[in-house]
Amino acid sequence: MRALVTGAAGFLGSHLCDRLRRDGVEVLGIDNLDTGRRVNIAHLAGDAGFRFLEHDITQALSPAEVGPLDVIFNLACPASPFAYQRDPLFTLDTNYIGTRNLLELARDIGAVILQASTSEVYGDPTIHPQVESYWGNVNCFGTRSCYDEGKRVAETLMLEYGRRYGLRVKVVRIFNTYGPRMDPEDGRVVSSFIVQAVRGEPITVFGDGSQTRSLCYVDDLIDGLVRMAASEPDFIGPVNLGNPTELTVLETARIIKEMTGSSSPIVFKDLPQDDPMKRKPDISVAESRLGWRPQIPFADGATRTIEHFRDVVE
Ligand code: NAD
Ligand code: UDP
Repeated sequence: MRALVTGAAGFLGSHLCDRLRRDGVEVLGIDNLDTGRRVNIAHLAGDAGFRFLEHDITQALSPAEVGPLDVIFNLACPASPFAYQRDPLFTLDTNYIGTRNLLELARDIGAVILQASTSEVYGDPTIHPQVESYWGNVNCFGTRSCYDEGKRVAETLMLEYGRRYGLRVKVVRIFNTYGPRMDPEDGRVVSSFIVQAVRGEPITVFGDGSQTRSLCYVDDLIDGLVRMAASEPDFIGPVNLGNPTELTVLETARIIKEMTGSSSPIVFKDLPQDDPMKRKPDISVAESRLGWRPQIPFADGATRTIEHFRDVVE
């Protein structure tokens, strides 16, 4: 078994590479190191079953460059609002041109291809919890749209390549995931709050903190990706992967402050444009089609993540 993981030096990609290697899968990891970091995959350097190629997916890859593949996991894309808004055209290109390049590669090689989509395709949802059949409520003219619309068109590309060429495509919609190896500086909620708490800096809650997120620990999420890749050929998704336990952002800040024993004050800042007010996955499709549901409660996942950040930030 041989897999290509794009976004391999990122948070989720590096954990996926680890899991695949534990499962005995040979892995080619690709990353342009835009938001990814070599340190995330440094431990795989001496592993003969892992190869890394620095490459941007907006440039086509030939079958000769990658060798035979059974499956492609497309995780390459800046993922935090701060990162994907830094160069919105690059975010769009990564999602359209990049995904299309990988679909062409999958077609040439005859590999299954799995696309890491996102709960952001639902935008600021008007139904709760979000089911896969919901079409979403996305502002196509706002600061988040480079990501939301990019991910939406990437789903459409997957669908159309499946229809036209009979390609085995799979789409997962990932809800907020946290854990070790998140970039401490990319502004995502769990990593930011932990880093701020550990450093004794103010914990920055945007808005009044009443908006909700459902936070999934990384090991659970990766297990969902692997199950989806191995699912029945006729199952293309989309399938929600996330932990349905919902917390307000203010509750999250208070829990992290208490767990870290931090004296940091909680401060309130402006809510970013189009910040979704609530988000919670309905995971009944993942349960029935993949036999998947998250196993790690927030208290356990947060403990592991706090331990990690205590080691890497001062
Ligand atoms: P991340 O930023 O840590 O990882 C993304 C990786 O992709 C980085 O290593 C980056 O350098 C690489 N990359 C970006 N553009 C590229 C390009 N054009 N060519 C090659 N490499 C490129 O983010 P993450 O949290 O690990 O997210 C991984 C994937 O999962 C993303 O596609 C993201 O949209 C999706 N996702 C993540 C979450 C989450 O909560 N972590 C939620 C929903 C969706
Ligand atoms: N958030 C916050 N303070 C921070 C970072 C994020 O209050 O320092 C809020 C943000 O406004 C959003 C939620 O936490 O409501 C999740 O933000 P994140 O960037 O992690 O993910 P996304 O908005 O993509 O769900």
